Amino acid sequence: MDKKVISTISLAGCFGCHMSFLDIDLKLLELIELVEFNRSPLTDIKTFSKRIDIGIIEGGCSNDENVKVLKDFRKNCDILISLGECAIMGGLPALRNHLTLKECLEEAYFNVPTSNHNQTIPRHEDLPQLLDKVYPCHELVKIDYFLPGCPPSGEIIWQALAALIKNDKLEISKRLIKYD
Ligand code: SF4
Repeated sequence: MDKKVISTISLAGCFGCHMSFLDIDLKLLELIELVEFNRSPLTDIKTFSKRIDIGIIEGGCSNDENVKVLKDFRKNCDILISLGECAIMGGLPALRNHLTLKECLEEAYFNVPTSNHNQTIPRHEDLPQLLDKVYPCHELVKIDYFLPGCPPSGEIIWQALAALIKNDKLEISKRLIKYD
């Protein structure tokens, strides 16, 4: 059987979902016999070098760079998975969504005790531009599967990948879904 090709990325997330990926533990040895990793923080490969079977997205979209990367994943991946609550519904970064972007920046750079006190908001053409709010991935591109949890457990990730690799139906037991 040809190995499936997997890519992963973290957008507006905390890398906790990637840590959970590593929590597959010993099954990683089994996984590595079935898949090869391409573009991913796990490999430090920065660009796609072939067509991807399964793309895994951690985090939602908080800035224009996140959107660009997400769209690039959609273009290059046959199956796209939103992994974890940040990808699925914005998660913790989306707590800013009840503020306008202006209010959010003023709070972060002017009002908090640790502000820089010179009343400037960093701006540079090389810096990603913040969006008006944090968007869940499925609002911007088609997502094929959602793996919930914060983070989803290693067991959920393993079960999902095992099913997709074998072209089985993807069914996750609710007892495995946790948010702590
Ligand atoms: Fe981190 Fe939870 Fe978001 Fe995953 S879902 S990136 S663990 S905050």
